[in-house]
Amino acid sequence: SGDISAPYLAGLNAPQREAVLNTEGPVLVLSGAGTGKTRVLTTRLVHILSTQRAWPSQILAVTFTNKAANEMKGRISAIIGRPVEGWWLGTFHALAARILRANAEQVGLKPNFTILDTDDQLRLVKQLIQAENLDNQKWPSRVVLGIIERWKDRGLTPERVTRAEQAEVASGRILDIYRDYQARLATLNACDFGDLLLHNIELFQKAPEVLLKYQQQFKYILVDEYQDTNVAQYLWLRLLAQGHRNLCVVGDDDQSVYGWRGAEVENILKFEQDFPGAKVVRLEQNYRSTPHILAAASGLIAKNAGRLGKTLWTERAEGEKVRVTSAWDGEEEARQIGEEVEALQRKGHNLREVAILVRAGFQTREFEERFITLGIPYRVIGGPRFYERLEIRDALAYLRLVNQPDDGLAFERIVNTPRRGLGDSTVRRLHDLARAQAISLPEAARRIVETDELKPAARRSLAGLVQDLARWRGLAETMDHGALAEIVLDESGYTEMWKQDKSIEAPGRLENLKELIHAMEEFENLGGFLEHVSLVMENAESGDRDQLTIMTLHGAKGLEFDIVFLPGWEEGLFPSQRTLDENGLKGLEEERRLAYVGLTRARKIAYVSHAANRRVHNQWQTGLPSRFLAELPPEHIERRDNQTFHRGQSRMFNPGLSEGRWTGASYMQRTARKPPPTIDATAVVAAESPGRYASGAKVFHQKFGYGAVVSAEGDKLEIEFDKAGRKKVMAGFVVPAHE
Ligand code: ATP
Ligand code: MG
Repeated sequence: SGDISAPYLAGLNAPQREAVLNTEGPVLVLSGAGTGKTRVLTTRLVHILSTQRAWPSQILAVTFTNKAANEMKGRISAIIGRPVEGWWLGTFHALAARILRANAEQVGLKPNFTILDTDDQLRLVKQLIQAENLDNQKWPSRVVLGIIERWKDRGLTPERVTRAEQAEVASGRILDIYRDYQARLATLNACDFGDLLLHNIELFQKAPEVLLKYQQQFKYILVDEYQDTNVAQYLWLRLLAQGHRNLCVVGDDDQSVYGWRGAEVENILKFEQDFPGAKVVRLEQNYRSTPHILAAASGLIAKNAGRLGKTLWTERAEGEKVRVTSAWDGEEEARQIGEEVEALQRKGHNLREVAILVRAGFQTREFEERFITLGIPYRVIGGPRFYERLEIRDALAYLRLVNQPDDGLAFERIVNTPRRGLGDSTVRRLHDLARAQAISLPEAARRIVETDELKPAARRSLAGLVQDLARWRGLAETMDHGALAEIVLDESGYTEMWKQDKSIEAPGRLENLKELIHAMEEFENLGGFLEHVSLVMENAESGDRDQLTIMTLHGAKGLEFDIVFLPGWEEGLFPSQRTLDENGLKGLEEERRLAYVGLTRARKIAYVSHAANRRVHNQWQTGLPSRFLAELPPEHIERRDNQTFHRGQSRMFNPGLSEGRWTGASYMQRTARKPPPTIDATAVVAAESPGRYASGAKVFHQKFGYGAVVSAEGDKLEIEFDKAGRKKVMAGFVVPAHE
């Protein structure tokens, strides 16, 4: 047919072409790194469009990160010659969010629901742990949230968590928290990332007609990095694909690195069962890396027992062996790499083609410091990112409240920022009321300012904030959202707060706020912008400036660079001790796959390094070279002796010398957060039964003592107190007085 001669097919080998041309029915492409799986997927999409098998809106394409989605959009628009817009091309979360917004009411949400980030989630879990009277020391929020998230990854709503599972994790208490957590999310009109998929699945089950609509709409479904889908994602895909059954997934079992986040590599193996008659394509030619890099990576991954096994070959020229170096400590490792980067620059390499891939987030700091000193431009992907900075999060909280008046977490964040005399006791009071009346925190604020519950100064201040928020919301109707954001930040006193601040960071923070408004201008409206932010918080974004990239190995999946540095190959760090402790051999194999991912990112040169000493979480550790180093086939690596290592020996017994550089204090400050206010249990009990009060009824109020009801209006009472005189109070805060 005319298809075969299409120009976009010219750059494919025979099996790749087969995977592209077999558009009808299920297809699985299972093959190693750099064999062109992503390229196949992109070309398949182009092929479907140019042969008019479907409209853009009829194709659902799933990528693993937003960065990958953008890259794919770029590649496709280059081939078809027009921009990619409004397509169903993105991450599982982005796509599921889009479906959920359109059908929110069906699962009890409003369409403007908020997507919580990790920080919000932790804050919420902590409150619930305290409300359950559990010891936060024994039940760290992070651990509890982790368990809840793993349940969600597996498609388990609270109702579906089985007895066996409850018993496994702390005798059911965590399930209680999970239930409370979901209930609170519902009151907040919010959901977390896991919910995006769970709510979709619930929606499809509750409303078969909605499912049918999407099943019919998506004639073709394409999925990249299939080995890392979790059960919830898998269920979602399977439901959607049942319509046309034109599902093409590509993956590599050797690159499955998200087991700890619920990914199930078995999904790949199950594919042929779920979609009988599936066509399986294997690609063996690697187009990315030189033979030495490929051989080193293949030799390493061959040590894994649980794998399907595959051979890879390349036609690329010989190239250089993988370089292995050692350093005295992490600081020296960073110095060596800095020097090497400068040498590469002198040789004319573009920094955009250089990446440093670390195992753990904390490793980036040393490189950042070194590169700042050397003036090497760099960007950190996946680290403390723009939208995670304190001032940005504060500003976003204001904007979230304008967008969604009942966003309690956002409200709590800004209620006293800048300071307005609304301290913890006021917030606690609001929490009590919100819980007692099952309303949101902002709603509690709106109600309480109508009463005398708060001291006059606090009441005035809170009323001011409530009025401001209402006014901004009004402005949002007519005003451009960028201009509105400026007004909000000015009128709230937030910008002024940083202008008055004398710290070194303050000017940078003001700049960031400007940048935020700038960033908003790319979006049509405030809601769209906030949605974008919640999604990029999760995945790194691409920038195309001429800078070196620092990122984690996990984040680097699917990407490629000419030159890749892989530092920190030490026992305990990589493989990570925690993974080994928690998951034994399975964990070790996942770590090894991560090493394989790292090496196979490199096109031309791969550097691996390790340090003899490293300071991890403020403690010095002596590190043995990683076992993975010994597993690299010796004929494909080149050990580099370095003098600096020996020079470093003089510091052997005084590692504290470099202490000054490591304090990390300012770093910690940036991420340190105010603990959420605790809930005052007695007040909650008192508030539990507001009841109805006839005039003349005798009541007792915590603060004002005994009194008699003068009049009642909804949940507000006017009371003549014996000592305090006439006050307006919330019905929730009084109890009947029994004489
Ligand atoms: P990973 O497993 O790391 O995600 P992948 O299998 O998705 O890798 P791609 O990223 O699609 O591989 O391709 C790797 C590189 O090889 C890319 O630069 C791609 O453009 C190139 N490539 C793929 N197929 C061919 C081909 N037939 N001819 C030339 N280059 C190719
Ligand atoms: Mg790929």
